Amino acid sequence: MRKKIVAGNWKMNLDYQQGISLFSEIVNMANDEVIGEQGIVICAPFIHLHGLAQLAGSRSRVAVGGQNIYFQETGAYTGEISASQLKSTGATYVILGHSERRAYFHEDDNQLSRKVDAALKHGLIPIFCIGETQDERESDRYFDVIRTQLEEGIFHLADGDFGDVVLAYEPVWAIGTGLTATPEQAQEVHAFIRNEVANHYNQNVANSTTILYGGSCNPKNAPELFAQPDIDGGLIGGASLKSRDFIDIAKVFNR
Ligand code: PEP
Repeated sequence: MRKKIVAGNWKMNLDYQQGISLFSEIVNMANDEVIGEQGIVICAPFIHLHGLAQLAGSRSRVAVGGQNIYFQETGAYTGEISASQLKSTGATYVILGHSERRAYFHEDDNQLSRKVDAALKHGLIPIFCIGETQDERESDRYFDVIRTQLEEGIFHLADGDFGDVVLAYEPVWAIGTGLTATPEQAQEVHAFIRNEVANHYNQNVANSTTILYGGSCNPKNAPELFAQPDIDGGLIGGASLKSRDFIDIAKVFNR
């Protein structure tokens, strides 16, 4: 059985105090209400990470992650954060290749592949995002786009390292727009991704790869999306800023 995960992406929201307060609510609700093996992760701005990790401690079932790293180890890169620095906060996950980073900060597959290497080297689990724009979907190029993102961003990894990665399919046209991929559209792409993993590695690796769906996921649409055979959870933006909604999404996997 591959791991199910519900991960929140707070993006550039919440000041420090607001972040601590929302995270406390999430931890309490998760401890009281989430019954199952599903992983729960909050990917927060850098300023929150140490405080959240301290709050989570070793007893909470909520893990903490960042939203980006730089691939260099250390040095004169003003404003950047390295993988080892992120790890030292207590974070265990990092989102890499989010479409907002690709679009606004011009992160390309080559840079992302180096970020993936840096994350793994320091024991961080990358949540590696891939997905097509509206234009690429409408012109039926989405399979090619996703194949290229996989091949250039992450398929350089050896089998053993690839086993430590989580993938997230996030159609760009569904992020923050209220437009969700239908369960059939999402399942079609998730099955395609799993098949690409099987072709590049092997079927065992493909069967154990966690592939999350992201794009306007909420407590209403999550049950049908997560019921698809190749969807192993969600990367949740807007709804992760509301503790009730986020926990209700995580509870879809309650046993
Ligand atoms: C995201 O930013 O990863 C995301 C899925 O956002 P939203 O849920 O708000 O569409």
